[in-house]
Amino acid sequence: MRIAVLALQGAFAEHEQMLRRLGVGAFEVRQLANWNQPKNGLIIPGGESTTQGKLLHDLGLFEPIRQAITEGLPVLGTCAGLILLSPMHLGTMDIDVERNAYGRQLGSFYTEAPVEGIAGNVPMTFIRAPYINKVLSSDVQVLAKVDSHIVAARQGRQLVTAFHPELDFDTRIHELFLSLAR
Ligand code: GLN
Repeated sequence: MRIAVLALQGAFAEHEQMLRRLGVGAFEVRQLANWNQPKNGLIIPGGESTTQGKLLHDLGLFEPIRQAITEGLPVLGTCAGLILLSPMHLGTMDIDVERNAYGRQLGSFYTEAPVEGIAGNVPMTFIRAPYINKVLSSDVQVLAKVDSHIVAARQGRQLVTAFHPELDFDTRIHELFLSLAR
């Protein structure tokens, strides 16, 4: 099992750390040559979706990644990663996304809430986070809501969270993703 971690910008190191804790191999994708290695899944980290989106285009990674996801490559998108999978960028996930949805001042907060398929509450760290305004297809399964806003969802092998599971000790969001990749 080997997971590609998009490492152009943002919180990719924390995802790699999480995969190490789970005993799963990972490699960084910084350019097209890295991408062309065998992989069982992809993580698109939080950071700045505009920057990551531009770099994906500049490096020629946009289309190969979009195509791989369309063909069923499992993907975990967190925060900016969620935005990148939405129709604003790669468009592989049928979700309508509100960027910086919590405002810029009170944009960062911590809470705990249930996630479908995981027992008990999951820690959720939000940093200038988006949320999902609405799902655009019945293929999208809502996994979690906070204050009535959708903050986690799944569509086939695509899993997205508006929060940063890689910043908390709980490994279960990553385990859920790995179960899609197995
Ligand atoms: N605000 C960022 C964006 O719009 C996302 C923030 C994050 O990934 N922590 O891309």
